[in-house]
Amino acid sequence: MSSKVRSLPGTEITHEDLKSNRYSFYEYQAKLKYSYTSGVAITRFLEGLKQGEIWGRRCVKCGRVVVPPRMYCEFCFRPNDEWVRVKDTGRINTYSICWVNADASRRNTPITIAVVDLDGASPLMGILHYVDEIAPKKVKIGMRVKAVWKPPEERTGSILDIKYFRPLKE
Ligand SMILES: [Zn+2]
Repeated sequence: MSSKVRSLPGTEITHEDLKSNRYSFYEYQAKLKYSYTSGVAITRFLEGLKQGEIWGRRCVKCGRVVVPPRMYCEFCFRPNDEWVRVKDTGRINTYSICWVNADASRRNTPITIAVVDLDGASPLMGILHYVDEIAPKKVKIGMRVKAVWKPPEERTGSILDIKYFRPLKE
């Protein structure tokens, strides 16, 4: 295969063209509404969060407990078998100190985002969440953490029913 760049037919619009007002543009804001089903496994997971519980699924063939739960074991190629309640404590698997918001705007203070491997789940079964009550520079891989939950009346069945994870002193 040649790595030569092919020239496609048509007229290129340059940045200068865009600034020149020679072209008119119409910006359309789509008004779309979505209805999304989270499925059997994630529905149970989210309902559990509303109760202050974290649920996973165990495959009895390989013994893995997956969190967030799935109804199928991709290692054994078979449906998994049972619900398992895991703890709201765990260990930081990896983390990132984040200086930008979801819209890519810069933050004045950083937040820490971590993958937390929960106690009772299999290794490398982690959930992505915030870490707080500790300076970002003091967060370490392997650090023990515990979930800080919203009050029950504020929970909605969302991963954000857990406000964040905080260091766990043992
Ligand atoms: Zn399995």
